Amino acid sequence: MSDWNKRTKAVHSGIRRSQYNEVSEAIFLTQGFVYDSAEQAEARFLKASREEFIYARYANPTTAMFEDRIAALEGAEDAFATASGMAAVNGALMAGISAGDHIVSARALFGSCIYILDQVLAKFGVEITYVDGTNLDEWRAAIRPDTKMVFFEGVSNPTLEVIDIAAVAELAHAVGARVVIDNVFATPVFSNAIAQGADVVVYSATKHIDGQGRVLGGVVLGQRDYIRGVLEPYMKHTGGAMSPFHAWLLLKGLETMDLRVRAQTASALEIAKALEADPKVQRVIYPGLPSHPQHEIMMKQTGGYGSTLLALDLGSQEAAFRFLNALEICIISNNLGDAKSIATHPYTTTHQSLSPEKKAEAGITPGMVRVSIGLEDTGDLIADFLNAASVA
Ligand SMILES: *Cc1c(COP(=O)(O)O)cnc(C)c1O
Repeated sequence: MSDWNKRTKAVHSGIRRSQYNEVSEAIFLTQGFVYDSAEQAEARFLKASREEFIYARYANPTTAMFEDRIAALEGAEDAFATASGMAAVNGALMAGISAGDHIVSARALFGSCIYILDQVLAKFGVEITYVDGTNLDEWRAAIRPDTKMVFFEGVSNPTLEVIDIAAVAELAHAVGARVVIDNVFATPVFSNAIAQGADVVVYSATKHIDGQGRVLGGVVLGQRDYIRGVLEPYMKHTGGAMSPFHAWLLLKGLETMDLRVRAQTASALEIAKALEADPKVQRVIYPGLPSHPQHEIMMKQTGGYGSTLLALDLGSQEAAFRFLNALEICIISNNLGDAKSIATHPYTTTHQSLSPEKKAEAGITPGMVRVSIGLEDTGDLIADFLNAASVA
């Protein structure tokens, strides 16, 4: 099983069949489980396992199938499924960190990740040093002998900066720091983060794993003693568990994820090329294009693939809004990895709450539009984007 390719794992790994031997995974929509006797209840509370369940906040058979399947895909020993991507990031950042600890983080982060670092962890005296994630000298200077954790997005939202996972992990491991990567933009299809040195990988399953805009979910992946010994106690007592119904939808999502993400990535490359050739677009940021500053690292890290996302700079907020309002196929919303193409203006939406300085530091300009490429026809999308650019 472990030598299966990702596509086979995405369909078969982690399956647990009930006494009925069903084909499609069963949904165990139950909060709890009945014990045969008081003694059995006592024994199970003494030593819970993922075969004998207690309570769905701790573990549930459908959720366990999702965890085992995504762990197999990522090449991780174990996984814990969470209610949302942010529950996963919060767990990965909070579990195992104490007052006075030092964290080094890349500056280009999803807005809610910045909130946890600056507003939650800082309140408890955790010291955070931010670096330009693409600059290894800055990582080298910031990582200290007492650094406990290094955190970054493998490919950043929304500026699509690509961080050299192996190089940063080497610096972090030299001082014994845990490397935690939010790898949503790389997707589980192209991520090899564990093999490249990540200790912990986090996904928002809301994105490519569901891929159809239906539910929230998240997952934290890593070594078994970390997942069960450090993360699970924090998650199960603080309540960020995934719903079994969502786990079932996400299991179905995993079955088609590889096909969807490859098609979306191929389409995104064509669209990025078409937009790069359009003089109305000042800048196209797409890691699959040679014009991207970390193109080589992206190709190395993903085995030659780009991203389902691209970012454009149209020069001003007014031009960006004209572009967005002229789109006919691509919708204006803030999810990504969806079957529907989605355009976002990070400056006024997902990153609105950041100060102008923080926005500038994160590279989020008023003219920037982030586009998540969906499953529509590539030619139709190119026509839609070029038409919108013509009026921008
Ligand atoms: C969406 C996203 C999250 C948060 O996930 P939710 O499922 O919305 O909670 C975290 N990190 C990145 C990079 C994301 O894109």
